[in-house]
Amino acid sequence: MSTKTYAAFNETDPLVPHTIERRHLHAKDVFIDIEYCGVCHSDIHTAKGDWGKPSYPVVPGHEIIGRVREVGPEVTKYKVGDLVGVGCMVESCQHCSPCDDGIEQYCENGFTGTYNSKNSKYGGVTYGGYAEHIVVEEDFVLTVPENIDAKAAAPLLCAGITTWSPLRHWNVKSGDKVGIIGLGGLGHMGVKFAKAMGAHVVMITTSEAKGEDAKKLGADEVLISKDVEQLKAHANSFDFLLNTIPVKHDVNPYLNLLKLDKTMCMVGAVEPLDPMHGGLLIMKRRNLAGSLIGGIKETQEMLDFCGEHNIVSDVEMIDIQNINEAYERMIKSDVKYRFVIDIKSLKNA
Ligand code: NAP
Ligand code: ZN
Repeated sequence: MSTKTYAAFNETDPLVPHTIERRHLHAKDVFIDIEYCGVCHSDIHTAKGDWGKPSYPVVPGHEIIGRVREVGPEVTKYKVGDLVGVGCMVESCQHCSPCDDGIEQYCENGFTGTYNSKNSKYGGVTYGGYAEHIVVEEDFVLTVPENIDAKAAAPLLCAGITTWSPLRHWNVKSGDKVGIIGLGGLGHMGVKFAKAMGAHVVMITTSEAKGEDAKKLGADEVLISKDVEQLKAHANSFDFLLNTIPVKHDVNPYLNLLKLDKTMCMVGAVEPLDPMHGGLLIMKRRNLAGSLIGGIKETQEMLDFCGEHNIVSDVEMIDIQNINEAYERMIKSDVKYRFVIDIKSLKNA
């Protein structure tokens, strides 16, 4: 089926309208009319080649919300009209140990990303959610609670699960002092989830103006990361840090904030970091860790939790025609806190 999209054709030029073909429905496929798609910083990294040359044209988008239009003959979990989501993965091998454990993002044979991934099963390269439709096997489709605002739920599919998963993995609980570093799409969901888990949440930001906002999102305290005195006052006091900074940076000042034995989890910078002082780990048996999105089962649990507790993202809606401006603003950290594309606007593209 012919599908209108927006795509990047090289590292530097703006995204432009582009038409692709979606595959015909196979037995377990779900055909989704996309309504909304969030804009993740990973879309920018990929389109601009920050993580190596992608397979151009790149149609980004892995925070997808839509309605089921049609299902293949063997689909059992979804029916026409259901409100559904698609996140960062559309396939995995389904027979390795991580897949068996429901953490398909660590599939030993490599998961298939929603965009810019070689599609070993159906051929070609995957194209994401800056598009009118998508076809995905039912095992990688999520149920979106009908009671939450669908457009504000889009970022849950990546920003949501990427922060939920480490907060759960490191067992954040009531009374813990948790720092969320960087107040963007991921960071603002980290604040909301850590708060909902009962933690004492500290927003660690470079921006004083955003610090005030963080309190409205649920942060109990704000720490301005450029202020040496504030860093000193919070030294050795955190039970967990979630670091969403999207670029290389100096992790040392942040590591020094952790208590004995505690962990800082990186989810942002996928690149060499500035040199780290081993003493900061050794002297307090601290851990520096990382985490990649989250599994399908866990993503469904997170969506159900959001339905029960009415948690969604704070979004700024855009038409697809404004996507390049949105990228420029995100690079300047100027977004509150996630751009979401109204896919209706693609009709005019
Ligand atoms: P975003 O909306 O652009 O937010 C990033 C925030 O980091 C900014 O708002 C800013 O917050 C802070 N920041 C930016 N540059 C900084 C610097 N040089 N030093 C200190 N702080 C800085 O990005 P996002 O969509 O949340 O994504 C964050 C990162 O996570 C990206 O690299 C993305 O690719 C990655 N990601 C990873 C996964 C995963 O599975 N691990 C999944 C999705 C995304 P303040 O203004 O508050 O300082
Ligand atoms: Zn993402």
